[in-house]
Amino acid sequence: MNRLIIDLAAIEHNIAVIDGWMKDHGARWTLVTKSLCGHADTLRALQRIGVRSIADSRLENLREIARIAGDVESWYLRPPHPSACDSVVRLADVSLNTELDVVAGLNEAAKKQGRVHRIVIMIELGDLREGVLPADLEQFYERTFALDNVHVLGIGANLGCLSGAVPNIDQLTQLVIYQELLELKYDRPLPIISGGSSSLLPLLLAGRLPREINHFRIGEAVFLGTDLVNGGTLAGLRDDGFTLEAEIIEIKEKSLIPLGETGTTTPFAKMEEGEHTPGARGYRALVALGQLDAEMGGLTPLNPDHAIAGASSDVSVINLGDSRDRLQVGDSIRFRPSYGALVRLMTGRYLEKVVTPELDEYEVRAKVELPPVAPEPDDEEPG
Ligand SMILES: *Cc1c(COP(=O)(O)O)cnc(C)c1O
Repeated sequence: MNRLIIDLAAIEHNIAVIDGWMKDHGARWTLVTKSLCGHADTLRALQRIGVRSIADSRLENLREIARIAGDVESWYLRPPHPSACDSVVRLADVSLNTELDVVAGLNEAAKKQGRVHRIVIMIELGDLREGVLPADLEQFYERTFALDNVHVLGIGANLGCLSGAVPNIDQLTQLVIYQELLELKYDRPLPIISGGSSSLLPLLLAGRLPREINHFRIGEAVFLGTDLVNGGTLAGLRDDGFTLEAEIIEIKEKSLIPLGETGTTTPFAKMEEGEHTPGARGYRALVALGQLDAEMGGLTPLNPDHAIAGASSDVSVINLGDSRDRLQVGDSIRFRPSYGALVRLMTGRYLEKVVTPELDEYEVRAKVELPPVAPEPDDEEPG
C-alpha cells in the first residue's frame, strides 16, 4: 500500500528549534498548518507539543482544528471571501484583511455573534499578491478604527509567496515605518507587526531583521525544514518530516529507450534528465502512484540511484539503475516530497497518511510554549 509517513519527532524538533530562534529575536509566532489539510493525528500531536497558535488558509481545516484543539488561537490566512464572514468570525480569532467591504462584513458578523473579531491589515510591499496599497493605508485604518466589533491587532505583509522574489530588508523597514506612522497619527498602539513566512527565516538568522518585526507565520520550515531563499535545508532543522512510500507493482530489467518513434501521444510525463545510450538496459520498477496522487516532479527518491522516468495519472516508472538492490514486487520505494508535492499528497483521498510513532506511543520530548499571540480582550489585564 502507498503511505505517507509523518515523523512527529522531526516536526517536534523543528518547532523547538524555530521557537528558539523566535525567542532570540523577541518575537512570537503562529504555526501555519495549511499543508496538513486538517490531518487529525498530526494536529493532535501539535497540541501535545504545546502549540497554541495555529493559522490555516481553509475554513474546513479551522473547523477540524477547533474540534481537536479547542483552546488554540486560530488565524485565518486568506483574505476572507465576503460570503464567508460569519464562518470566519465563528472559526477564527484573527484574520488577515485587505478589503474594507470585507472588514465591514466581519464587523456585522461579529456584532451578530456578540464578539470582537481581531484583524491584521496586510500591506502590499511589492509581492503583488494581497495587500492594501500603501497610499490607501491611512484611510483603510481610519475606517476600520471606527468599527465597534473589529479590533486591529497590527499590520503585516506576505512576501515571497507569489512572485518568488526574495524578501528584502527595505520592504520590512517600510512596514515598521507604517506602524510608527499609524500609531503616531491615531494615538493607539498597534502591537503586532506580522512580518511574514518561512521565507524570512534566513534574514532572521542573519540578524538582519528589524527588531520591531515581532510576529511570524511559519509553515514550510516546520514541516520540511526548507531554506526558501538559498535552497536546501536551514541549518539545525530536519528535512525528514514526511516520507512517501510507494509500493512496487512490477519490476523488470528493460531497455531504457522506448521502441519505435516517440511522439506526443504518450500520457507519460517524462521526468528523468539526461539521455541513455542506445541499447542501454537497467532495472525499472512500476509503482502504483501517479500525477493524481502527487506532483510527481516534486518527489525526490531517497536512494540517489533511483530516478523517476515518467508518470501517468495512476502509475509511475522508476529507473533503479544497474542493480535492483534486492527490491521485490510488494516492497516500497521511498521519496521525499517538496512542499507542492506534499500539499497534493495530503489532500489526496487515495493515500494513507500515518504518524510515527503512533499517537498512543508518542512522548513529547521538546515541549515548547507557543502561546496565543493575542489573548482575547476579556483575558487581558484590566487597564
Ligand atoms: C502559507 C502562508 C504562510 C506560511 O508560509 P510558509 O512558507 O509555509 O511558512 C504565511 N502567511 C500566509 C498569508 C500564508 O498564506
